[in-house]
Parts: sequence; C-alpha cells; structure tokens
Amino acid sequence: MTINQKQLVLIGGGHSHAIALHLWHKNPLKNTQIILISDVEKTPYSGMLPGYIAGYYTFEQTHINLVQLAQKIGIKLIIDKVTNIDSQKQKVICESGKIIDYDLLSIDIGSTPNDSQIKGSKENAIPAKPVPILLEKWQQIINNCKKNPQQTITINIIGSGAGGIELALNIQHKLQTIIEHNFFTINLIGRNQQVLKSHNNYAKNILTKILKKKKINIFLNSEVAEILSHKIIIESGLELFSTYTFLVTNSAPAKWLKATKISTDDQGFILVKDTLQTLSHDNIFATGDIATMTHFFTPKAGVFAVRQGKPLYKNWCKYLTQKSLQNYHPQSIYLSLIGTGNKKAVAVWGILAGYSGLFWYIKDYIDRKFMEKFKNEDKE
Ligand SMILES: Cc1cc2nc3c(=O)[nH]c(=O)nc-3n(C[C@H](O)[C@H](O)[C@H](O)COP(=O)(O)OP(=O)(O)OC[C@H]3O[C@@H](n4cnc5c(N)ncnc54)[C@H](O)[C@@H]3O)c2cc1C
Repeated sequence: MTINQKQLVLIGGGHSHAIALHLWHKNPLKNTQIILISDVEKTPYSGMLPGYIAGYYTFEQTHINLVQLAQKIGIKLIIDKVTNIDSQKQKVICESGKIIDYDLLSIDIGSTPNDSQIKGSKENAIPAKPVPILLEKWQQIINNCKKNPQQTITINIIGSGAGGIELALNIQHKLQTIIEHNFFTINLIGRNQQVLKSHNNYAKNILTKILKKKKINIFLNSEVAEILSHKIIIESGLELFSTYTFLVTNSAPAKWLKATKISTDDQGFILVKDTLQTLSHDNIFATGDIATMTHFFTPKAGVFAVRQGKPLYKNWCKYLTQKSLQNYHPQSIYLSLIGTGNKKAVAVWGILAGYSGLFWYIKDYIDRKFMEKFKNEDKE
C-alpha cells in the first residue's frame, strides 16, 4: 500500500456488497485497496435458494463465487470469520487471530433465525441460516429419503413468514419426487393468527389455500416451547412428532456485535442513517439484514439488501473523495415473488397479490439476470 492509499474493508459477501463490488469493478476509485473478509468462498443468493431446495437450480447457479469475483475485480479476499471490531483503533479482528486495519469499513453479514426463546433449538433444529448448514442438512435428508423411501418422516417448519412458507412448499415439491405422499408429513408452525404477517390479505389467503392443497398442515397461534430430537412441544401443550425441525423464525443479529462500540437497536441490529453510515461512526457503513435504518422500516429481505448495493457504492466513493454523501430512501411498495415449488409463484405488490406460472417465469428471469452479473464474463 502507498502512503496515500486508503483501505476499504468489507465484512461479509452479502447481497449489497456483491452489487457494490460489481459497480466498483466498472468504475473503481484510484488509491483505494479493498479487502473483503468472508467466512465462505461461495455466498448464497437468497432469491434462488428455495428453487435450489426444490431441485430446479444447481449449487453453482445459486451461489456467488467470491474467489472468482475478487480475482476479476482485483481485490484481496480473506476467508475468515470476523469476531470483533476495534473502532477506536480502526481494526477488524478475525477468528484466526488476523487483525486488519481499515480507513473505511462496510458490514453486510446478514442475520440468523432467532432461537433464543426455544429450548432445545440449538441441539435439535436446523436453522435456515447460516445457509451452508441448511444446505448440508437438506442434502443429508434427501440421501436418507433415497436410502429409506419406505420410512415415514415428519418435517416441522417453525416460522410462517415468507421464508418458512417458501421452504415448506419447496421441500414438499422435492420430497414428492423421492418418496410416496403418504410417507411424509410437513407441518408449518407460526406464532401469529395468520401466515405471512407482513403481507396483504390476498397474499395470505392465496398462500393458505396453496399450503392446504399441498397437504401442508398449518398450526397458527402456536408458540413453540421446546424442540426435542423426536418431537416439538407447543406452549398450548400440543406435541408434534418430528423427524426434522427447521427454524425460519424472525431474524436475529450476530452476537459478537454487542462487544463493539457500534450503534445498535434494542435487538442488536446496527443502526444506520439514511446515508447507510452507522449512527456511531461515519467511517463504518452497514447494509442488508444486519442494518436497521433509523428513519425507515425495511423488512429483513434480500430484495432490500440488493437495493442498498448501489447507494452503498456511491457513498463509499463520496466518503473516500471527501464529497457530501447522498441519502438513500427505500421504496415503500416493492414486488415480492414467493416461489411455490411447482414452477409457479405468488406475486405481492402493495395491496395486490396474484398466483401464476407467469410470475415464476418472471422471478426466474430476474434471479438469473442478477446472477449473470457475477459470472466471469462482464455483464451489465
Ligand atoms: C429459506 C429462506 C428463503 C428466503 N427467500 C428470500 C427471497 O426469496 N427473497 C428475499 O428477498 N429474501 C429471502 N430471504 C431472506 C434473505 O435470505 C435475506 O434477507 C438476505 O440474504 C440478506 O442479505 P444480506 O446481504 O444482508 O446477507 P447475506 O446474504 O446473509 O450475506 C451475508 C454474508 O456474510 C457472511 N458472514 C456472516 N457473518 C460473517 C462474519 N462474522 N465474518 C465474515 N463473513 C460473515 C455470510 O457467510 C454471508 O456470505 C430468505 C431467507 C430464508 C431463510
């Protein structure tokens, strides 16, 4: 590094960082070295994950290869897990003991399902995140089903939001290609009165009908108290048999952030201003699931993490060239496409919702187009 060179350190290869790096590649700043620290070489693209579970996409199609991306852009990639940040000394501390200095820091590390309330979840449940664990367990389940197609299994999915529903429908689709219908049961368990709490009533009704048609049992108003290896216990006293239990509950932040001096909300998510800078430190940005915007509500969804990529890139550049930063205002109405496992999707936009094969086609097109950006050939 030369004397005037600045060091921009990125933690996590999440959706916003992937987009910001794509833009950086097209228009980089001189005198800035980027170091990306990621705990994985290949980072999953959330939009295509349910399709991967259903068997429509391969692992490579649904993951951004950060090693290739870093080589293409000419940045340094460190495979390690960040465990602390010393914001006073401007240092990032990694699990391996490596310490990395930064002038500007950007955090896009996602979230994990909240398991703090449920006894036995750590030992007996499969969390939807980190994704590598989810996919490894899913592969084991498929292998077991292929080996023992006559063995009956019960899959419980805790969490009746978009993630839980998509997982249930896509698991159902894949299982029916391996074992007979009457050899498996899928239960979807949610604590709210209806599925899909944050979507409109049309979407709730459409998805409830689809779940019922696919014979996925829905248990609402059901707070799970304990997960055991062979059953789950609901607070009402109801017990459900379980071969496998997936956890797709509300998002929770990484616990190590608590030890840093970075501003967080009550739950521990990083609080950011409209510029995507943290409230506490102008030289630390945060985006995606891990960030909570102070002035706006943004759901913890990949679509928002993707949208933040462009303003993040612009504000890195403005910060590094000492220009005034731009405010980012997220859209209040956004298109949500929920794949139903049968090459159809439910589209939700504001107060509207619909279900068709055309929406799957559109979703598939958007997702493939997104992933093309990160292939080795340059695409817009
Ligand atoms: C089953 C399921 C289906 C979903 N489907 C959709 C969907 O269809 N559409 C949608 O919009 N959203 C969907 N979501 C939500 C979506 O996954 C998240 O909102 C999205 O991934 C958030 O993106 P991000 O950039 O914040 O982080 P992520 O995409 O989670 O990326 C974070 C990256 O940081 C890395 N990392 C984490 N901690 C560290 C560390 N300490 N050090 C170094 N690296 C680290 C991780 O390995 C990961 O590569 C789904 C979620 C689930 C569970």
